[in-house]
Amino acid sequence: MEVLILILVVAVLPIFVAYKITSGKGRGGGLGILLGVLLGWIGVIITLFLSNKREEAEVRAAIEVARQRQAMYRECPHCKEQMRRDASTCPHCQRDSRAWEQREGHWWSQTQAGEWFWLDEQAGEWKPASVPPAEPVAALPELSSRTH
Ligand SMILES: [Zn+2]
Repeated sequence: MEVLILILVVAVLPIFVAYKITSGKGRGGGLGILLGVLLGWIGVIITLFLSNKREEAEVRAAIEVARQRQAMYRECPHCKEQMRRDASTCPHCQRDSRAWEQREGHWWSQTQAGEWFWLDEQAGEWKPASVPPAEPVAALPELSSRTH
């Protein structure tokens, strides 16, 4: 009976504990089982030092959301406050500037002279376009508002 308990504590329990830890950290229970079988309690200790993939993924997702939100804004040419890229009136100073347009996965802006530029986000600079971007798909006409 004592031998059975000893086997349970030394050989079986670490497999279970390591399995719980690695699956909880989003790394799959298989890794924990492997470490528990091969190394016993030392394997469990190793699992404690593994980083938590689930937390890492959450942090990455939060950074991505913040980056996308940042990518939606531009600086107002008049007051230098942040305003939406696709807006033409600044919410801070109420002055107008030409709205950017999103087409073909890039932001586009047209100069007074009618030349088109697209924003290369990675290089952080405007690139002139020899061909203007394709027109966006026209919005559906509002049907419901004119029925009464
Ligand atoms: Zn402004």
